[in-house]
Amino acid sequence: MPDSKATRVSSLYLHVPFCAQKCAYCAFYSEPSTGDLINRYIAVLVHELEIVADDLRPETIFFGGGTPSLLNLRQWEQILRAMERLNLLGAAEFTVECNPATVSADKAKLLRDFGVNRISMGVQSLDEALLNRLGRVHSREMVFKSFDILRRAGFDNLNLDLMFAIPGQTLEVWRATLTEALALGSEHLSSYEVIYEDDTPLFAQLKAGEFDVDEDLACAMYEELVDGATAAGFRQYEIANFARGSKSNTSTVQSLQSVPEGGMTEDCGLTTVDIPAFACRHNVNYWRGGSFYGLGPSATSYVRGVRTKNWANTQLYCEQLGKGNRAIESREELPPLRRAGETAAFGLRMVAGWPFEEFQRTTNFDLRREWSADMNQLADRGWAKISPDRFHLTPRGLRFADAAAEMFLR
Ligand code: SF4
Repeated sequence: MPDSKATRVSSLYLHVPFCAQKCAYCAFYSEPSTGDLINRYIAVLVHELEIVADDLRPETIFFGGGTPSLLNLRQWEQILRAMERLNLLGAAEFTVECNPATVSADKAKLLRDFGVNRISMGVQSLDEALLNRLGRVHSREMVFKSFDILRRAGFDNLNLDLMFAIPGQTLEVWRATLTEALALGSEHLSSYEVIYEDDTPLFAQLKAGEFDVDEDLACAMYEELVDGATAAGFRQYEIANFARGSKSNTSTVQSLQSVPEGGMTEDCGLTTVDIPAFACRHNVNYWRGGSFYGLGPSATSYVRGVRTKNWANTQLYCEQLGKGNRAIESREELPPLRRAGETAAFGLRMVAGWPFEEFQRTTNFDLRREWSADMNQLADRGWAKISPDRFHLTPRGLRFADAAAEMFLR
């Protein structure tokens, strides 16, 4: 482990692999919870934290899943006390993902007391029929109730996750959900088109011909999303992510340079890009190719150019850590140019694209030299724009960002 504080990793992800039940579309690693396994998982997660703690100085922490809010008060306290003991608290941004069905005032207070300052709530839809269709465990009423509980507990940075192009969802239903969600006044909004992952019930239904995918409708829904969120004072900063620019819920845009406390570290390479103040800094670090530790079953780490992945099996994860080892299934060290290509591809998801100088600082490669032909081809197609200081996708290009990103992968 390096001993210089300056080189410590500033981003930490923790995966909680338990859910009350499996949603129809979900390919994340999670399983229905059982008390004993959760307790065992927590004990070994603390051990994994102990193994990496000396190499961490978290500026951003993100508990994702799975359903982190499924953990009870005692279990949360066990994790947070361990983090306190290991000097891992105090991050500028500390997010916990919550399902509206498992938010309580006591839990919200506990999280707040330990420095959690951002909650990401998986809403997906505000239409009861669609919530059932997706296999979600919560109702629309629980969304409003939980939002209120979180506000009362003092959370002033809330994200709502929404999903569109759900089978059976009409444009009118999407519009109604979007309008109601925007009216809640969260600081952040993430909204993804349904994707059909192998081995999910929704994919099986699609293959069985139970419904068709309507790409034109999905495009219309995406346009509604961008227009609606913009009109409500959000600024789009990534394909699927929108944030407010200031605490007063106005559309004023600030740059990260003007975010004083705990701004991005050099590890994130984010000193020049204009993004809204309430952008999720943890995710921005991913898109900008920064290092991060990912702990828990199935979690990926990317530390100084080396990518590792933990076993996506909670039993195995517990066994490995029980023997004192991190439960790493695979390790990959990419050649520098390939790594730079991946960094380019990820960063293009952001509306700001890649400032040339920042890309060079992050990767040691010049975007204009290595990918000049690809950039020109995308610009000719109307998918991208080459400005004097940066390369970025156009609104049309963002719609096809995955295809555009492919061109940068070497
Ligand atoms: S709650 Fe989230 S992680 Fe759990 S099954 Fe549903 S979508 Fe997947």
